[in-house]
Amino acid sequence: MRIRKGDTVQVLSGKQRGRRGQVMVVDPAAGTVIVDAANMVKRHTKARGATMQGGIIDKDMPLPASVVGIVCPACGRPSRTGVRYDEQGAKIRVCRRCGGDL
Ligand SMILES: [Zn+2]
Repeated sequence: MRIRKGDTVQVLSGKQRGRRGQVMVVDPAAGTVIVDAANMVKRHTKARGATMQGGIIDKDMPLPASVVGIVCPACGRPSRTGVRYDEQGAKIRVCRRCGGDL
């Protein structure tokens, strides 16, 4: 999984194609991400007790990680990522398009 929480990503396919947002939640086990303001659905919920209000609620749904691309801050486009290692041997993600660090 190349995507991390806080990344800016763009949805590459599906109904939400073209939407951009920040990654709020990453679920490596499920292979999904929740992107802010992308893949919102309206849930018609019934009131449950005093605290849960009923009505129509916007809910962020998880997207498969494979349909989102990390937006490179340098070229401003969704890019595939590569990996390079710095002097300490730490992994650094790089943009395949321009070679800049992500
Ligand atoms: Zn780039």
